[in-house]
Amino acid sequence: MAKEGGCLFRIGYFFYSRTRIGQIYHNRDIAKAREKYPDGQTHSVIQPLKYGELTLTPLPILLDNYSYILKDSKSAVVIDPGDPEPVIKYLQDNQISPEAVLVTHKHWDHSGGNSAMKQQYPSIRIYGGVHDNVNNVTDTVKDLDVLQFGDMSFTVHFTPGHTEGHVVFLLDGTPFGMSDSLFSGDHLFLGGCGRMFEAAPSVMLGSLDKVSSFKGDVLVWPGHEYAKDNLDFACHLESSNEESKKKYDWIKNQRKQNLCTCPSTIEEERSYNPFLRTAEPSIVEALSVKEFEQPITDETRAKILREIRTRKDSYKYKL
Ligand SMILES: [Zn+2]
Repeated sequence: MAKEGGCLFRIGYFFYSRTRIGQIYHNRDIAKAREKYPDGQTHSVIQPLKYGELTLTPLPILLDNYSYILKDSKSAVVIDPGDPEPVIKYLQDNQISPEAVLVTHKHWDHSGGNSAMKQQYPSIRIYGGVHDNVNNVTDTVKDLDVLQFGDMSFTVHFTPGHTEGHVVFLLDGTPFGMSDSLFSGDHLFLGGCGRMFEAAPSVMLGSLDKVSSFKGDVLVWPGHEYAKDNLDFACHLESSNEESKKKYDWIKNQRKQNLCTCPSTIEEERSYNPFLRTAEPSIVEALSVKEFEQPITDETRAKILREIRTRKDSYKYKL
């Protein structure tokens, strides 16, 4: 796609996000992923994780997306089924019948499986943010709504920025003896954040501050496997940051074996994710833009956020 912010990009994005053209574009992406990963191969190894009675499976789909399948002793939930075929196959192979689909935002690589899920499981509920126009939703959700399925309790947090109605879901870990889990869609990634397609940097900043203020031990489960590129850029931008280097080394090792890099924690993200570090003097110094010097107000931080985004978008990643 053309560069974000450009006129061609804006026209293309409008059709992608508002019309059936989005679905055609998405079907092309599915075909590309099938070509790259034929015969049920995936971009990452599938490793179900057990936390007490909860089984949490990051399911690799498309070229670099994750859908999540959560199952406890009473219920099951799917998050962001962007490509229905591998999701439904996994559910059937494991005899899981989901009660609900939670969708972080309207983009087709997250919501493209909604209609097929509804067809396959007619009584399923599909939850999406009230301001995001997600396809095939049965129930809209707003900030601080709580959704209960079996012992799983999710709190919805409104996080506009990537899209105007993006939401994230925070799972209470208490019943499973684990930390809370944040399903962050395209809002927060390991070492990065989503592009600001539908909101100003100041709005995105508010949404990033919101998740950054969550407890440090909250586990982060993002919508894409972008960690390697993100930490490559983070190390380049803030070259004195030892936490970024340590995480980047670990991620490179994981990805050599096609292992999933999530979860990280909010505390970790605060230590190396440049998009959560707009108030840090070391970031301001790394950017070396005179205008960003003290005092760092929220207005300045929004400009810093935009600057980091611009630099990241033009950064040439290592292979
Ligand atoms: Zn998206």
